[in-house]
Amino acid sequence: MTAYTYVLIGLLGLVMGSFFNVCIYRIPQGKSVVRPASACGTCGHRLGVLDMIPVFTWLFTRGRCRHCGARYSGRYALVESLTCLLYLAVYAVCGVTWQCLAGLVLVSLLVIIAFIDLDESIIPNGLVLIGRICGLAYQLVRAPWWDGLLGAAAGALPLLAVDGLGRLVYKKEGMGLGDVKMMAFAGLFLGWQATLLALLLAVVLGGAVGGVGLATGRLKRGAYMPFGPFLAMGTVAAFLFGPSVIRWYLSLLI
Ligand SMILES: [Zn+2]
Repeated sequence: MTAYTYVLIGLLGLVMGSFFNVCIYRIPQGKSVVRPASACGTCGHRLGVLDMIPVFTWLFTRGRCRHCGARYSGRYALVESLTCLLYLAVYAVCGVTWQCLAGLVLVSLLVIIAFIDLDESIIPNGLVLIGRICGLAYQLVRAPWWDGLLGAAAGALPLLAVDGLGRLVYKKEGMGLGDVKMMAFAGLFLGWQATLLALLLAVVLGGAVGGVGLATGRLKRGAYMPFGPFLAMGTVAAFLFGPSVIRWYLSLLI
C-alpha cells in the first residue's frame, strides 16, 4: 500500500505543481487560473496534454516549445519538482491524518506565494484569505484548539513590531503587511512554538542569503529583498521538523 501511496502523492505533487505555475504567472495579472488553456508565450500554440506532462515534457523537449522552438524557463520544472518533493515530505511526516491534508494545503499556498513574492514583491490577498479559511477550519480537528490562534499571533505580532519600528526609524515601510498576513495564517497551521521556530529560521536564512548577496555584490545596499520566500521556507521546515525539534529542545531543559 505505502509504496503506491507515495507514487500517487508524488504524481499529485507534479500535477499540482504544474497548476501552481499557472497560478504564479496569472494571479498577479488578475487573470483567471482556469481559462484560457495554457499556450506557448511566443507562438501562441495551444499546449496539448503532451506539452504539459510535468517535468518530463521539459526534459524531453530540453525546455523548448515543440512548435516554434522558443525556450521555456527551467523554473516551471523546478516548481513542479519542488511541489512533488514537498508533498512527499508532508506525507512521510504526517501519514494519513488531518495534519497531512493541512500540510498539503499549507505547502501549496506557500509555493505559490513564495514565487509570486520573488517575481512581483507582492503577496496576493486572495491567497492569504484561502490560507486563513483553511487554517481556521484545521482548528476544528486539532488539539488544543487555541494553539493555532496563539500561532497566528506569534506569527503576526513580531513582524508587525518590526514593521512599526521600520516606519518609525526609516520613515518608510519596513516589512510590508503581506508578510504579516502570511505568517498570521501560517501560524494557524503551525501552532505558536513552531511559528516562532519558522520566524527564527526565516531570519537566519534571509540574513545568510542577504549577507552573501551583499558580500558578492549581487545585492546592492539598501536594495529590496522579498522576505516572503524565506518565511515560506522557514514555515515549511517548521511544519515538517518543528515538533521533533521542539521535543528535543524541551528534553534538554528538563
Ligand atoms: Zn511556441
